[in-house]
Amino acid sequence: MNFEQGPIRPPSEAESLFVRLTRNCPWNKCLFCVIYKGKKFSRRPVEEIKKDILGLKEAEEKVWMYAFQQGKEEITREVLQLVYDHDPNLLQIAFWLFRGGKNVFLQDADCMILPPEELAEVISYIKEQFPTVERITTYGRTKSIARRTVEELKILKDAGLTRVHSGMESGFDPLLEFMSKGVTAEEHIKAGLMLKEAGLNLCEYILLGLGGRKYWREHAMDTAMVLSSIDPHYVRMRTLAARRGGPLQTYIDSGEFQVQNDDGLAMEERLLLQNFDGTGSIVSDHILNLLEEVQGKLPDDMEKMIGVVNSYLSLPTEERENFSLGRRLGLYRFLNDRNDPRLFRQVEEVKAGLKKQGKDLEEFVAEYMSNYI
Ligand code: SF4
Repeated sequence: MNFEQGPIRPPSEAESLFVRLTRNCPWNKCLFCVIYKGKKFSRRPVEEIKKDILGLKEAEEKVWMYAFQQGKEEITREVLQLVYDHDPNLLQIAFWLFRGGKNVFLQDADCMILPPEELAEVISYIKEQFPTVERITTYGRTKSIARRTVEELKILKDAGLTRVHSGMESGFDPLLEFMSKGVTAEEHIKAGLMLKEAGLNLCEYILLGLGGRKYWREHAMDTAMVLSSIDPHYVRMRTLAARRGGPLQTYIDSGEFQVQNDDGLAMEERLLLQNFDGTGSIVSDHILNLLEEVQGKLPDDMEKMIGVVNSYLSLPTEERENFSLGRRLGLYRFLNDRNDPRLFRQVEEVKAGLKKQGKDLEEFVAEYMSNYI
């Protein structure tokens, strides 16, 4: 194919068309992150990106040729099948068109590091080439956003940028420093408020478990404080998975960082929710989150969300263990899934097997989670 694509995008952008403006992460130092380790950051020249956009356009036109061959004026399942049979390389763009061709995600980890004029030029070019596009989003590091002025951010908004996904992770300064995040709580607030003032939609990502067992309270409280100061449109919950061999491993091995267990994660999440005063939405759309049903619109759904956490924490120990294991094994999605006798029995069998092998349940869960990305 005549265009380049990066490996990472937020789950909510799975159906978007990807346009790669930069390669990898310009910071690449966060202790908990292994995604771009060993990979060098680079900015792609605007002319090269425009060639990619033309390559995507060409791919789009080819998909439409398959549709016209079948006498279709829209991309149907039959067209997808035809593309799959004859030109599987076009499948991604065919699916994108099948879903309406509305969303574009700019890769990789921090397009906000680009000069605003360059970024705006690319965004305008995308809109010119793909008039069906309604939403263009990107990842943006707090530091890169905070370096801009509101006027510069407005240039991006006017060009067609709609949303910035930003990895806040925590609002607790000592933790941000320990994790080498390279930003402070104050910068998080400044960047978040600037984006909002520029009229951009903001999605902040929070990393539950980042404080380990030592700082879970401070992490929850200060993160809630920073989130309340910004009041982002979306807060997306994520959960730390300390990848084996990642930079955090040394601190785990030395005992300086103790990975939080599932009960601790639930208490941390409850404390954060109890202290967060916002009006946006909370989303928990990730397999690593213990309680996927903690989501809703604020302020109305806050009590319901806290109620979900309380329901988990008030279960008898045996049942909490069962849910934790079943969730981590991917057998359960929601708390109530453990009411399915077949699934419950399946999890109990695994639990009994682990106990027989003398394995500690918490350690097994932590080990299992460290294999997720
Ligand atoms: S800024 Fe984001 S992508 Fe870069 S190292 Fe940190 S967490 Fe990973």
